[in-house]
Amino acid sequence: MNKTEKIYEIAIIGAGPGGLTAALYAARAEADTVIIEKGAPGGKVVKTSIIENYPGVEAVDGFDLASKMFNQVMTLNVPFVGGGVEKVSKNNDIFTVQLDNGTEIKSKLVIVATGTLERKIGVDGEDRLYGKGVSYCAVCDGALYKDQEIMVVGGGLSALEEALYLTKFAKKVYLVHRRQGFRADDKTINKVKANSKIELILDAVVDKINGKDLVEEVIVKNIKNHKTTNFAVKAIFPYIGAIPITDFVEHFNVLDKEGYIEVDLKKQTKVDGLLAIGDVTNTQLRQITTAVGDGAVAAQRAINILDSID
Ligand code: NAP
Repeated sequence: MNKTEKIYEIAIIGAGPGGLTAALYAARAEADTVIIEKGAPGGKVVKTSIIENYPGVEAVDGFDLASKMFNQVMTLNVPFVGGGVEKVSKNNDIFTVQLDNGTEIKSKLVIVATGTLERKIGVDGEDRLYGKGVSYCAVCDGALYKDQEIMVVGGGLSALEEALYLTKFAKKVYLVHRRQGFRADDKTINKVKANSKIELILDAVVDKINGKDLVEEVIVKNIKNHKTTNFAVKAIFPYIGAIPITDFVEHFNVLDKEGYIEVDLKKQTKVDGLLAIGDVTNTQLRQITTAVGDGAVAAQRAINILDSID
C-alpha cells in the first residue's frame, strides 16, 4: 500500500469548476493543498459542448474552459492526484482520504466537489448498448452520427443544449420529454423550437432500446394515450438529470433526503473541517458559475479555519 504521512492543509476531492476554483483560491492563499480527481480534470464541463452563460465569454467550448481552469491551477503547483475516493474518515482532527489505488491522503480539511453522475433511464437495452449507440456525452460521440437520425431524452438545460449541439451532425434529432414544459431558460427553449432539425416528442418516455450489436431502434411510449412508436435512430443520448456522488461520505450523516450534501452558507457540513461545494450540495442552482462561487467561498472559509487552528 502506498502511504504518505504528509498532512496537507486542504484536500479537495473533485477537479470540476468548483474544485478547481477552491484550489486556485487556496493555493493563492498559500495553503498546502492537494486536488484529487478520478477522471479528466474539468468534470462535466469537459463533456459540455458550448457554454453560453459563463460571464465574460459569450460562447466557449466546455473542454477549452475546463483546460484553462485546470492549467491556471497547475501554474500554482498544486499536486494533482489521480484516483477514485473510496472513503473519507476523520480521526483526531485529521482526515484520511482513501483512494481506490491504495493511496491514502491526509489533511486537516476536506472540500468535497465531486458533482453528479448521469441518471440512467433504466430501460431494456440501455446498459447492453452503452457505447454502441447509447451515450451520455454528445461532445464525445455526436460526430459519429453525421447525417443520421438520433434521439435525445430529457427536458432540462442539458438535454436542450445537447440536442442543439447534435444538430451540427445529425440530420434529425428527436427530443423525447415526459411532459410539455421544460426546465430551461426561454432563450434556449426558443432556439430548440426554432431548429428545424429537432422534432419534439412530448408527454413521452422511452420504453425500450433495441439493436443487435448497435442501437437500431428506440420504442417510445406516449404517457397520455399509451401508444408506442418505433423510431429507427442510430443513437440515443439520455440527459435526464443527475445523481450526487457521495458514497464515500455517507457515514458522516451529512446528506439530505435526496442524497445531496447539506452545507451552510460558508459551505461547511455539520462535520468540523468537512466542506462541500457545487452540484453535489443541496444548492438551489447547479451551474458552472455557482460551483465557481462556492469554490471561492469554501476556500476562504478553509483559510479562516486554518488560521484559527494554527
Ligand atoms: P435537470 O434540470 O434535473 O433535468 C432533468 C430532466 O430530465 C427533466 O426535464 C426531467 O423531467 C427529466 N427526467 C428526470 N428523470 C426522468 C426519467 N426517469 N425519465 C424521463 N425523464 C426524466 O437535469 P440537467 O438538464 O442534467 O441539469 C442538471 C443541472 O445542471 C441543472 O441545474 C441545470 O441548470 C444545470 N446545467 C447547467 C448548465 C450550465 O451552467 N451551462 C448546462 C446544463 C445544465 P421533468 O422536467 O418532468 O422533471
